[in-house]
Amino acid sequence: MNHLEIQNHPDFDQHEMVEVIQDENLTALIAVHNSNLGPAVGGCRMYPYAELGDALTDVLRLSRGMTYKSALAGLPLGGGKSVIIGNPKTEKTTELLHAMGDFVDSFDGRYITAEDSGTSVSDIATMGERTTFVSGVMKNDQFGGDPSPLTAYGVFVGIREAVSYRLNGALEGTRIAVQGVGNVGLYLTKMLLKSGATVVVADVNTENVARAKECGASVMSPADIHKADVDVFAPCALGGAINESTIDEIRASIIAGAANNQLASPEIGQSVFDKGILYAPDYVINAGGIIDVFYQQCGDRDHDKISDHIDRIGTTLSRIFDESAQSSLPTNRVADQYAASVFLGQPRRAVA
Ligand code: NAD
Repeated sequence: MNHLEIQNHPDFDQHEMVEVIQDENLTALIAVHNSNLGPAVGGCRMYPYAELGDALTDVLRLSRGMTYKSALAGLPLGGGKSVIIGNPKTEKTTELLHAMGDFVDSFDGRYITAEDSGTSVSDIATMGERTTFVSGVMKNDQFGGDPSPLTAYGVFVGIREAVSYRLNGALEGTRIAVQGVGNVGLYLTKMLLKSGATVVVADVNTENVARAKECGASVMSPADIHKADVDVFAPCALGGAINESTIDEIRASIIAGAANNQLASPEIGQSVFDKGILYAPDYVINAGGIIDVFYQQCGDRDHDKISDHIDRIGTTLSRIFDESAQSSLPTNRVADQYAASVFLGQPRRAVA
């Protein structure tokens, strides 16, 4: 794959740097979308992509998403991402992780990596044996190196804001469907149950389902969870949960969850809006993890300060909801406009 092919990709969107490595140890890509606000920070995903082109599409979209996420989270960070092509269950070796560490290091700090789906905190620590440009690997800390608990806390704050905005109520008694109870979904389920919400979950992994059930959630099949008769649908599994075939089956009046790229396309945001569903833009509500990673990177573990910062996700969402109602623009469009105004250096309207 050459630079011309990369630049002609429909998702290229003025990326500052995209590099590919293909050798005996590693096939991977690193993308830096925009670094106007600071160094590009974003996780390293490992997935058995069928083609290099699929990995390129993913890394470009995810990296761009990180620019928007950090901008609206009020962080001095840019957006980047990396992907390793391979099966994380069978193909992850120390040699591969060291080779990835070397690849990250070759960006000289313009890209800082962290865990993502298919990589763990300990994988990032192994990369960290070859580069200092890693995040999220702190140990023996109250929040740990894993950003998932604080991602879940941010989603919790966002759901609470959306419920207050749309339903004029508190979480107690609110019915919520959580799709995917992995790292984030399970923490979220526990917080929601603790605040008196009724939670139904679905997951393709039966062990994860059992854990959620033990906490007090009820269970539905993964094929039906988006159709649940609930107030809030919280996608916390893979991207694309809101698509042409699911949109007409969603009964919730709020969509608010952790998953990245929940809308199969930006256009589907218009259908969500037209149906009167309040959508909390994914990269706004799931920013708790990157906020945590930022403070880890600074060596600042003042938990009250971090929680306060994450609480501001609620204020940012509220401004997006208001602007969407006033302008009749879908919330995903409003969020994009706000984020672009921040990282392109125009007035910061939506950042709380
Ligand atoms: P995870 O892999 O731990 O959990 C995902 C869960 O979804 C798994 O339990 C998996 O079995 C389940 N799942 C997969 N397909 C499913 C389906 N069709 N129906 C129901 N369940 C299904 O991942 P995670 O770290 O919890 O992240 C969840 C989502 O949130 C991802 O989209 C991720 O990109 C996003 N996110 C995570 C973080 C973080 O800090 N971990 C931060 C921001 C965004």
